[in-house]
Order: sequence, then structure tokens, then C-alpha cells
Amino acid sequence: MQTYDFIIVGSGSAGSVLAEKLSASGRFSVLVLEAGGSDRRFYVQMPLGYGKTFFDPGVNWNYKAEPDPGLAGNADHWPRGKLLGGSSSINAMVWIRGAREDFDAWAAAGNPGWGYDDLLPAFKALEDNQAGADQWRGVGGPLHVTDCSGAVHPLTKRYLVAGQQAGLPFNPDFNGAAQEGVGVYQISTRNGRRMSAARAFLRPAMKRANVRVEMKALATRVLFEGKRAVGVEYQQNGETKSARAGREVILSGGSVNSPQLLQLSGVGPSALLKGLGIRMVHANENVGAHLQDHVGINYTFKGKLPTLNQTLRPWWGKLLVGMQYILTRSGPLSLSMNNAGGFFRTGPAATRPN
Ligand SMILES: Cc1cc2nc3c(=O)[nH]c(=O)nc-3n(C[C@H](O)[C@H](O)[C@H](O)COP(=O)(O)OP(=O)(O)OC[C@H]3O[C@@H](n4cnc5c(N)ncnc54)[C@H](O)[C@@H]3O)c2cc1C
Repeated sequence: MQTYDFIIVGSGSAGSVLAEKLSASGRFSVLVLEAGGSDRRFYVQMPLGYGKTFFDPGVNWNYKAEPDPGLAGNADHWPRGKLLGGSSSINAMVWIRGAREDFDAWAAAGNPGWGYDDLLPAFKALEDNQAGADQWRGVGGPLHVTDCSGAVHPLTKRYLVAGQQAGLPFNPDFNGAAQEGVGVYQISTRNGRRMSAARAFLRPAMKRANVRVEMKALATRVLFEGKRAVGVEYQQNGETKSARAGREVILSGGSVNSPQLLQLSGVGPSALLKGLGIRMVHANENVGAHLQDHVGINYTFKGKLPTLNQTLRPWWGKLLVGMQYILTRSGPLSLSMNNAGGFFRTGPAATRPN
């Protein structure tokens, strides 16, 4: 059995950054186990390709939630990336840090170091923002952020005007002084290609001799000695393999898979694990609980201006937009479908966008 200093399960947003940071000094060996395959695919690299990967089982876990009474019994589709870069290789690329209030609430809940002011230097250091550096934004970091304000669809401009007519402030930078208002999204791309966490962090780390990435390697169990995690068992090419961690085992398989792997390894709610015949290592009722989801609701309107649907539906539209993308790395295929958005308070009593 091979021993590494660190074993990282999952090469997604979190795993890619950790692999880069932990290997940078050259002092530690790092093994990354990834259940999916390579991110070198056209529809992964081309930004608008996420319309295709949204349901593609080759790169997506394609989870289905249980029927939800709050959604009239409908069962939601939950896409999660299953490839190098994880969900950052199939996501909509909208570059939003999260609200100051959320991070400050984490700190207030007893997590020193996780408030917004603590995190701001890290947020600035990781980005290379096309809009330039200021009090909130950074340049020169590994992850390029594109300013799309000059490239959005004509309807987006009308949406921004309509938002302001409805009394919502215009926000020039959702990652700036405040999140509230309507505005154009920044996206994680560079030169018309997706800037996933794999591209920004994992791929550069993979050039180092002390980093090993195993693809199509599904971690099935964390190995314990007493209560100490000492390695990982995984399936690859029909074989059961294992690796040992001299320092740490890191679970970065995402919000669905990491708690599942913990439960399979004997860390989780005692009644659940007993019922499944899993040997208990450590009882914890919170493993697999408290997930917060956000619902996506689509409203569909007939427009007077041609929308992306009308542009992309006919073969000649695909050809034109495809040529534009291949020749100039610009146009609709180089952008996110989500051009703009907003963060609002549902009423005057709310103290922050909710
Ligand atoms: C369709 C879609 C659109 C989104 N749009 C946006 C957006 O516009 N802006 C935004 O900020 N966020 C967006 N998100 C969310 C964002 O991408 C995720 O929050 C983020 O990538 C999660 O990072 P993670 O490291 O927790 O997990 P992931 O990036 O999902 O990585 C988990 C990795 O672990 C691997 N893995 C899991 N289990 C195992 C196992 N047992 N063994 C080995 N490997 C395993 C997975 O295959 C995956 O590669 C979107 C997500 C999706 C799916």
C-alpha cells in the first residue's frame, strides 16, 4: 500500500485548491482520488457547454432528489460534476463570493477566522479580475474573472433598466461593497474558455512530481485506526485498492458525496448506520443533515427581440455562433446563460437581501 502525506477525495472546487496549496512547498506528497475522468472535453471547456453537461452522465452524477411535498411532489434534478474540477467544470461560472452577512454569521456561530473581513484577502488573492483591482477585487491571482458588461444580450440591458424602474438599486459589482441590487454577473472564464478550479489550481499542481491524481477512482471507505483516519479504500478498474495517509485524509467530494462517504465509513447517525449494518466508528447525528438547497424556478416569456433560443435553434444560427466562437473566442458560446441577476429584499422589514 502506498503512503502519501495527504489524500484528497474529490478534485472539485475545494479539492483542486487544496491539492495546489498542499503541494506548493514540495515538502508533502499528495494523492487526489477522483471518481470521474478528465476535463479535457469540448463542452466542458466551452462556457455555454454546461447546457449539454447539465444531464450528461459522462461528467455528472445526475442526482435526483426525493419527491418534495413543497414542490407539489416533484423530484428535482441535482446536477453535480463528476470529473476533474468537479462541479466547477459544469457550473454556470457566475462569480459570486457570497454575502458578507453569511460569512459574518459563520464567525458569530463560533468560527473565528471565517468572517468576511478575514476572508477578503483570500478572495482577492485568488482572483485575476479583468475589471482591475480595487478595495474588493484582486489581480494577478490564479483564477481569471471576466467582466461581461460589454458583451451581454440586449434584453439584459432592458432587465437592468426595469429593475431600477422597480426601485432596485443598480449594483456595479456584486463582489464589491454590497450585494444588493441588479447588475451584470462577472464570470470565471479566460479568453472564452471555462476557468474551472481544475484549470486554475489542479492542472498547474499536476505538473509537480509530488502530486498524483487517480481518475475513475471512487473512494468507498475512509480507513480508521481507532478514531484516527489513516487512509482510503477505493475502486478503480474493477479492483479494490487502498492508500495510506501519513498526515491527513481530506474529504472534498461535495455536499452530497462527502457525508455519504463518512456514513459508509462509520461516521454518522447511529440508528441509520446500525440499520444499514455499517460498523460504527463515531456517532454524529449531523453527518448528512442540514443541507441547504436553492430552488431554480424558470419563467418563460415570448420576446419581441430574438433570444438565445431563437439564435441557437436553426442550423445556420448554430453555424454562425459556432464560427464566431471558434474564430474569435467570443459571442454567446463564450458566456454564461446567466448574463445578469440581482439580490433583493422581499420587504422593508428584511435587514438584508433574502
Ligand atoms: C449546474 C451547476 C451550476 C452551478 N452554477 C454556479 C455558478 O454559476 N456560480 C457558483 O458560484 N456556483 C455554481 N454552482 C455551484 C458550484 O459549482 C459548487 O458549489 C462547487 O463547485 C462545489 O465544490 P465542491 O468542492 O464542494 O464539490 P465539487 O466541485 O462538486 O467536487 C466534488 C468532486 O468530488 C468527486 N467525488 C465525489 N465523491 C467521490 C468519491 N467517493 N470518490 C472520488 N471522488 C469523488 C466528484 O466527482 C467531484 O469531482 C453550480 C453547480 C452546478 C452543478
